[in-house]
Amino acid sequence: MDHNRLFIPGPTEVRHEILQAQTQWMIGHRSKECAELVESIQLKIRQVFFTEGRVFITAASGTGLQEAAVRNCSDLKVLNCVNGAFSDRWRKITLANGKRNGLLEVVWGQPVLPEAVVESIKGDSYDAVTIVHNETSTGVISPIQEISQAIRDTPGGEDIMILVDSVSSLAGARVDFDAWDIDVVLTSSQKAFALPAGLAFCAVSNRALAKAHTVPNRGYYFDFLVLDKYLQRNQTPSTPPISLLFALDRQLSDMLKEGMERRFERHLALRDRTIDWAVNNGFRMFAASGYESPTVSCIRNELNINVGELIEFLRSRHMIISNGYGSLKDRTFRIAHMGDTKRNELEELFEAIDTFLEKSK
Ligand SMILES: *Cc1c(COP(=O)(O)O)cnc(C)c1O
Repeated sequence: MDHNRLFIPGPTEVRHEILQAQTQWMIGHRSKECAELVESIQLKIRQVFFTEGRVFITAASGTGLQEAAVRNCSDLKVLNCVNGAFSDRWRKITLANGKRNGLLEVVWGQPVLPEAVVESIKGDSYDAVTIVHNETSTGVISPIQEISQAIRDTPGGEDIMILVDSVSSLAGARVDFDAWDIDVVLTSSQKAFALPAGLAFCAVSNRALAKAHTVPNRGYYFDFLVLDKYLQRNQTPSTPPISLLFALDRQLSDMLKEGMERRFERHLALRDRTIDWAVNNGFRMFAASGYESPTVSCIRNELNINVGELIEFLRSRHMIISNGYGSLKDRTFRIAHMGDTKRNELEELFEAIDTFLEKSK
């Protein structure tokens, strides 16, 4: 078999059953069957987001919904919390959409912390904050629940739109949308959902929808008010990627069968095993201690190995890992353990890397 197993932080490995689910015949997107499919998805995906409210399903990748979130939820000033490449992308998107912004810059490898966010919003006129839950470039997870609580406890903070990118964490780590009192949580299909690329999802609070009513120029494709209007009749405003919806419906059933708690525990166990393996081999994690991501490990290249050669070696064994992001290219490498990854698959990867390390001694 010439299949290369993916241990990169997106796209992630997709199981055969899920690939297979995409091969069903097309149905019309205004048909009763399609409305039933959208409804079936809606009932299940809400359990993954831990919300009783709406979750929009869009034909896009996560970046599209980063744009949607700032476009629908701010007409004053956005605080962009930046601690890595994807949170910085959100800053660029904010500016590209003509929104005013301010910046909370955090050193790469560190989480965004509640005190720093509160310090930044105090005495300023922010109506939205963007935060990346799990920085895929550095393998850092930030405490969204605590950040949200701290914002809500700040004078004026109850009206601030809390916009969260959970692209590489949702469905692999807990995001309790309703209980955490956040406004938008967005993600894409090709990360911890372990689906093919091409879908993006976001939960949107009633507060965010009310805000959108007051924001001009929300755009057309991602207008939350229009998406909501259609979702109420189990439809999408434009043609959805129907094959991907079939795959999503199947994967949601499988995820709920595993159980979300069990799924989160599996991810944490894979994370802990990866840290142990790395430390035992003389590496260190890039993430600040206590904030290591449950879904992707960014490992410091303390042994000064040739990361390019490691990647080539693993490829010859049909396994793909990732180099560091941007300037971290050779200084780190990244192993994703998200989606449907099993312990024995990760062990096979470690065995192969052990062989490489042995060889290059
Ligand atoms: C992958 C990723 C993105 C970009 O998502 P796309 O689906 O590729 O647009 C954004 N944020 C984070 C944290 C990511 O990991």
